[in-house]
Amino acid sequence: MWQAEARVDLDAIRENVARLRAGTSAELMAVVKGDGYGHGMLPAATAALDAGADWLGVCTLDEALNLRRAGLTAPVLAWLLAPGLPLHEGVAADVDLAAATVGQLAELAAAGERAGRATRTHLKIDTGLSRGGATIDDWPDLLEAAAKAQADGVIEVVGVWSHFVHADSPGHPTTDRQLAVFHEALAMTERSGLRPRHRHLANSAATLTRPDTHFDLVRPGIAIYGLSPVAGERFGLRPAMTARARVVLTKRVPADTGVSYGHTYRTERETTLAVVPLGYADGVPRHASNVGPVLLGGRVRTIAGRVCMDQIVLDCGDDPVAAGDVATLFGSGADGEPTADDWAAAIDTINYEIVTRFGSARVPRVYDGQVP
Ligand SMILES: *Cc1c(COP(=O)(O)O)cnc(C)c1O
Repeated sequence: MWQAEARVDLDAIRENVARLRAGTSAELMAVVKGDGYGHGMLPAATAALDAGADWLGVCTLDEALNLRRAGLTAPVLAWLLAPGLPLHEGVAADVDLAAATVGQLAELAAAGERAGRATRTHLKIDTGLSRGGATIDDWPDLLEAAAKAQADGVIEVVGVWSHFVHADSPGHPTTDRQLAVFHEALAMTERSGLRPRHRHLANSAATLTRPDTHFDLVRPGIAIYGLSPVAGERFGLRPAMTARARVVLTKRVPADTGVSYGHTYRTERETTLAVVPLGYADGVPRHASNVGPVLLGGRVRTIAGRVCMDQIVLDCGDDPVAAGDVATLFGSGADGEPTADDWAAAIDTINYEIVTRFGSARVPRVYDGQVP
């Protein structure tokens, strides 16, 4: 018998990838960083590849090496690399790496030299996010260094890429400005003699709403897990994760009973309280105190009082709830349960954070659908 679990429907991931795949003629990179946005990196990656993803995208070198250790052979790009990492291990494992500065490029070149083969390199242009990437002013120096390292046989420039600021607000003018900078960077790249085969810019939102940004490759993340990057639009996606737990105990308490730490909630009348064994150690945000929605006994209830480390309490009135009943925090919504979008709205965050932070050593992921 189980206590708490994160169920992940791999067929939903397959359907979502197939839907995205059908909407573009570009190659598709399934982004599986952050342990597959909390869904489990390896099962998510395998399901995405089953459904036609061509590439896998991750943040760190370790994530990329873990994909290789699991035997996945699809092209992999890792894009967030602090200095001094054993990048040659990535090169030897056929992992593509990103560079945005001359210093990073030198590390990629040294890794290629050590591995005895050119490092497959994706040069990143900052088109406006002001996070990673070379500014357009620094781009010529990066191109020059890249052309030289390529001539030396230690790197191969296979990609030029960037990332959007505002693609989640379709029609935002920043997106057009970023696209223009990207085109400019590509023209400069051409003029430097480099011919990157993979030009890529689109995240989920741009994959779904801006075909003019698809270039050779799109990089959806959140959408493959069935969540929409654009508020108020579903795009026919099916959420893959359901977070739920079984009630530990119920009890009757009188009116005006203070509930949980700090007594920030008081019962209005005599009622039944139900204790659900999930808390902030499991990824339930403490900010969900008195606002997080949970389906129990056929009704969506709001968490009563503070979210504790290990548990939450629900005020169930006179409804016949009992120990062992299943309380669902979020899921696809198909059975009346709240969604990750409802949770995001309740605590003023984004659905990405709700699913990515959910799960812990004591909340097993259980896979539904065809499991690889
Ligand atoms: C996380 C990430 C993505 C995927 O973004 P979504 O909004 O989840 O589709 C794509 N590209 C980069 C560089 C990322 O960091």
